[in-house]
Amino acid sequence: MKKIAIIGAGLSGLSLAHMLKGRAEITLFEKARGVSGRMSTRYADPYFFDHGAQYFTARHEAFKEFIHPYIELGLIQRWNAKYAKFKSNRIVETKDWISDEPRYVCVPGMNRFVQYLAENQTVHINTRIITIEKNHAWHLIDDQGHSYGDFDWVISTVPAPQAIDLLPNFFLHHSAIASIKMKGCFSLMLGFEESLALEFEAAHVTDSDLSWIAVNSSKPGRSDMYTLMVHSSEKFAESHLDNDRDIVMERLINETSHIIGCDASHAVFNTLHGWRYANNAIKSPVEQIFIDPMNSLAACGDWCEGGRVEGAFTSAYQLALELKEYLD
Ligand SMILES: Cc1cc2nc3c(=O)[nH]c(=O)nc-3n(C[C@H](O)[C@H](O)[C@H](O)COP(=O)(O)OP(=O)(O)OC[C@H]3O[C@@H](n4cnc5c(N)ncnc54)[C@H](O)[C@@H]3O)c2cc1C
Repeated sequence: MKKIAIIGAGLSGLSLAHMLKGRAEITLFEKARGVSGRMSTRYADPYFFDHGAQYFTARHEAFKEFIHPYIELGLIQRWNAKYAKFKSNRIVETKDWISDEPRYVCVPGMNRFVQYLAENQTVHINTRIITIEKNHAWHLIDDQGHSYGDFDWVISTVPAPQAIDLLPNFFLHHSAIASIKMKGCFSLMLGFEESLALEFEAAHVTDSDLSWIAVNSSKPGRSDMYTLMVHSSEKFAESHLDNDRDIVMERLINETSHIIGCDASHAVFNTLHGWRYANNAIKSPVEQIFIDPMNSLAACGDWCEGGRVEGAFTSAYQLALELKEYLD
């Protein structure tokens, strides 16, 4: 069996590993201390926050089939939120997701699905790969100087701007990937002692430094402790990612209060996370599979499909199909 190294243990890396199981010997490398990447959950006892992906849709047949068993298990459930669209602090549209396209979440946190896929896989966590080298086979070197090998193939599933630093210049698709831009986002996490009287549980926001506000604790299977998850706009994140985090947080809390009409500074817990590469700048798929059979290198990730959870799976699915002829 061919030996494959997959860099990144988010949904694309782990769904790829899952699809290649039995056809190749897979080893995953993840720089964080756990798997799940941007489908992550922050535990700040007694509060829980999904500070990356909020929910996902399933529009492609292959993704619907993939998640079906996990829906049966209760690991993925519908989030039937009361939804609102804000234009600045004015609600301009409302919807009840119970009678709309299903929006899914993982239970009890967004990280649970990827964690489940990681069971029985070989994953090196806390391992940031900084170089890949080829002599008779591929070797990966981490930031502590440890070397891992021998691999027949190396597949990157990290965000596009990080993939171009990892993959050699001779990789067939290096310049195509270099042209894919990603934007940042701040996640503001607020925990309260008492519930707030809000008219919505999930809201997109325009004409604001915010883009999203959700009552995280309204998702199925969460604890009763009342939490708000707030995302900044891409524009705000891009111009403040290197600023003092306390100042950024204060500004986002003030804007949250302005939008929801309640004083969000009453939160007894608050913290901020900055994502440098949250989502694609251009949301349409690039319609290309980044495989280089001559060099036994490939790349995938949500950014191949315009971002989003379903895009992460779809990119891995398409690459797994394409790899088939090189593994058999
Ligand atoms: C704030 C935010 C909100 C979002 N909201 C939604 C939403 O509501 N709905 C939706 O569908 N999508 C949403 N998304 C997007 C969604 O989270 C992503 O599309 C999806 O999780 C990407 O999965 P992935 O496996 O392609 O990438 P990632 O999850 O980023 O996985 C890549 C992994 O590679 C690791 N890595 C990077 N460099 C290295 C290295 N050198 N060595 C080893 N490991 C490395 C990273 O730590 C990471 O775990 C959101 C994202 C963010 C950040």
